[in-house]
Amino acid sequence: MVAELIPMPANPQDVLRVNRIYPFEEGGKKLLMVVENAAFAELDEPSWRAVHLVVGQERVDRKVLVEALTPEFGVEEAQATVRGLMQLEVLVPKDTPRLRTDFEPLPVTPLTSLVLHVSHDCNMRCGYCYADYGRYGTDPGYMAPDLAQKHVERFFDQLGPNSGVHLTFFGGEPLMNLPVVYAAHAYAKERAQKEGRRLAFGLTTNGTLLTPELVEFFAKEQFTITVSIDGPPDVNDRLRPLEDGRKSYDVIMERVRATNLKAHARVTLTRRSTDIARIVRHLVDAGFQDVGVSPVATGSDRFDLDGEDLAKVLAGMRVLCDEFVEHAKKGRIYPFSNIRTVLEQIAAGDPRPVPCGAGTKLVAADNKGDLYACHRLVGQAQFKIGHVDTGVDEQVRYDLVQNFHPRTREPCQTCWARYLCGGGCHHIAWLHTGQKAAPWAIGDHFCDFLRGWYRLGLYTYARLGEEAPDALDQLRGRRSTSACNQPQGQ
Ligand code: SF4
Ligand code: SF4
Repeated sequence: MVAELIPMPANPQDVLRVNRIYPFEEGGKKLLMVVENAAFAELDEPSWRAVHLVVGQERVDRKVLVEALTPEFGVEEAQATVRGLMQLEVLVPKDTPRLRTDFEPLPVTPLTSLVLHVSHDCNMRCGYCYADYGRYGTDPGYMAPDLAQKHVERFFDQLGPNSGVHLTFFGGEPLMNLPVVYAAHAYAKERAQKEGRRLAFGLTTNGTLLTPELVEFFAKEQFTITVSIDGPPDVNDRLRPLEDGRKSYDVIMERVRATNLKAHARVTLTRRSTDIARIVRHLVDAGFQDVGVSPVATGSDRFDLDGEDLAKVLAGMRVLCDEFVEHAKKGRIYPFSNIRTVLEQIAAGDPRPVPCGAGTKLVAADNKGDLYACHRLVGQAQFKIGHVDTGVDEQVRYDLVQNFHPRTREPCQTCWARYLCGGGCHHIAWLHTGQKAAPWAIGDHFCDFLRGWYRLGLYTYARLGEEAPDALDQLRGRRSTSACNQPQGQ
């Protein structure tokens, strides 16, 4: 039962507004998340008692709160506790304006990331492919070199003052259209040099077409290469066959080893592959520099994970978080990108009004000249934001981005994790809303998973603070610049 803490009349100067908070216990730790400003703290006993006195209330009287804490903790400790809660912005003077993130329109900033769909075709036939075997619901097709150059040119024309720029080659399988990769790379590099911009290249591949020459080129040009692979052979080969029906694990790993590729691994989790601790360990041991997992998103019950499957995934993530802490204690950052990026985000401490850069920073370009807010949503008219001939339509982009705000998603408005999560991946939200018009919202079972994941991330952060503070220092300066919050961009 929450005590009534504002017997009226109260001295107006003592009336404090209570911001939304989420106190929770995990692994014996008493933790607190402040919803709007994304502040996070481990609480001592007096603060824990105090937050339970104020949680769920609109306002409190500072004097009454101090009096309520004094018998148990003494007046000085009680006053210090209230001051501490004010520092965290749990309690603020009653006329303090609400935090900006809840009310302002979302900023539509100059673009930073171009995802070039160079090939809408693939030499694999993964049953769960959201892109319809790379075709995005249309005929297979390749981007022509002159169109690729035009896309890059248009993208650079719209960059504004941004100095850090990303160009990612994507498909289908981008290595099926190498002339375009080379042409777009050369043009973008020249343009970035001329304009003094830092340009990072990325390419996402199924790994089956890698050659030593290609890998040498990627290494020289400092590409980040992401290989899609789902774990050990028995897991990977179930859903990732080659076009001719052969198993793909051995083919991929042979190429990776023969070329000495330094790559990231990107795993799609399905209903039949939820043992992520085993999957991640296998891929780390196989030599991948970084491993990220993402539940499959198809909109079909055949593949998409239900609540029970997601609970299994979360249990595996818990095991991996324990391993992350054990490695951190020995001065190493375990290369499991899901946890690392959450820790970096918590360390940065700024509320996240949107989940990713879709539409705000990122644009995906297809082989017909169209521009979309996200690489996964290419081909979907609702997410089209322009054309290479005319560039991004700023009004269309602005309107779409306003639809992306958590405030337009009903479940997010009361969710304690909303400024950690930002409202979830728009592609998943769109699928969960039956691919209809906005507003799009993530389904309850997936939100439970997301909240469980953020809660685990917060707990791991608190553990690192105590058990491996040096690792936390390393993570503090390393915020990911990826415009997509799915591992390695898809
Ligand atoms: S967990 Fe779900 S309800 Fe909460 S912010 Fe994310 S998408 Fe919204
Ligand atoms: S998080 Fe989802 S919507 Fe955002 S860029 Fe990544 S895939 Fe697209």
